[in-house]
Amino acid sequence: FSMHSAKTISPMPWMSEEELAGLFEALQGDVAQPAVLLVGGCVRNILMGVEVEDIDLAIVHKPEKVMKLLKEAGYSVIPTGLQHGTVTAVMNGKAFEITTLRHDKETDGRRATVEFTHDWLEDAKRRDFTINALYMDLSGNVYDPLGQGLGDIEDKTIRFVGEAAQRIEEDHLRILRFFRFHALYGGQDYDAEGLKACEAGADKIKTLSRERITQEFLKILASDDPQDILDIMFERNILKDLDFSASYPEKDFFRYFCNFQKKYRLSALSARIFVMAGLSMENMKELEEYLLLPKVFLKDAIALEGALNLSDLSCDSAVRESVYRFGRSTTAQAIMVELVQDRVMNSYASKALEIVQKWDVPDFPVSGEDIMNAGYEKGPEIGEALRSLENWWIEQDFKPDRDACLEKCVCKFK
Ligand code: ATP
Ligand code: MG
Repeated sequence: FSMHSAKTISPMPWMSEEELAGLFEALQGDVAQPAVLLVGGCVRNILMGVEVEDIDLAIVHKPEKVMKLLKEAGYSVIPTGLQHGTVTAVMNGKAFEITTLRHDKETDGRRATVEFTHDWLEDAKRRDFTINALYMDLSGNVYDPLGQGLGDIEDKTIRFVGEAAQRIEEDHLRILRFFRFHALYGGQDYDAEGLKACEAGADKIKTLSRERITQEFLKILASDDPQDILDIMFERNILKDLDFSASYPEKDFFRYFCNFQKKYRLSALSARIFVMAGLSMENMKELEEYLLLPKVFLKDAIALEGALNLSDLSCDSAVRESVYRFGRSTTAQAIMVELVQDRVMNSYASKALEIVQKWDVPDFPVSGEDIMNAGYEKGPEIGEALRSLENWWIEQDFKPDRDACLEKCVCKFK
């Protein structure tokens, strides 16, 4: 098999940046056939007109040679995954992941032993989906060794490379990746063979590490309209245990919430998860059977629950109280939840969100020392008095100044 480009497109501006161009120069040498090519997500995204996040490269040289050539050219080299043939090259803060062409020799559903090859077709065959098995050089020549990727990009078809059932047997994570890529890049229809194979293999997802499951699942949740994908996934018994829709106060609750996040450009993944979990901390804990959520997600969920337990966020003073107690971003998410629940009028939401953004959060003007000076004994009462004074100050919509607060403190407690 020799590489012929299937199509040429005009290169993206970033493809001529010196860090990438220098890397190609260092690794290509003066061989006629391509030695190094862009591959995977970056090529797919260019062809789909989607922003490119990170740059992966495939190369015919073995990792040792790659590292040597890179160092000679002045790149820092990190052996990120040597046993899989992956090294990361860094220059001026830009990182490139470079993987030697390979095929999987042994697989057990979770990890693979790999063998290096010089054959681009072999390398394409071990990749998960046809749209991820496309290669490109810096002049915009696109290579499609399988002869399917370009067509599938055109039709937005997420199709396993080779036989779906077998590919899932090799690596169960591909089930979640199937839905992830569908959520992000797929069209209306699912590839029937792929969908069937995912359903048949669903039980095995449990055997994967929570880290790997989480990575894919969060990307699904972060997609534009995750409800559609989750519906299909749950219908097909994929992570069915995570279906908390029975605890939704109303149908399509989650969908509406995601739509508000989109409308106001306030997408917070932690809030999405909490809403998906039916606004229940108990469900949130159940997620941990499959997902390893960042600690901050749980903290965010607790704060959101707190904000939702305040009075309805349907007037300025309530919004200010929430911002003061739980912060701007939690309050914004709470407003959107309440929008779905009809506790906040649609017509008030923009005003509420403006307060969230622009209101200058005041500092409580009284300290523990002030309370002591007012005659309190050192001890737990000081904290209590301070909190109760603060609550009063919040109730007065943060208007009383320091003197007014101290006066109140003296009247009330002496
Ligand atoms: P993105 O970076 O936007 O999430 P990506 O396609 O680059 O998407 P990565 O997870 O970065 O996804 O993987 C890079 C490439 O490696 C993929 O495009 C695919 O060709 C291959 N790949 C990754 N994971 C697998 C897998 N589990 N099985 C087979 N091939 C895989
Ligand atoms: Mg990638």
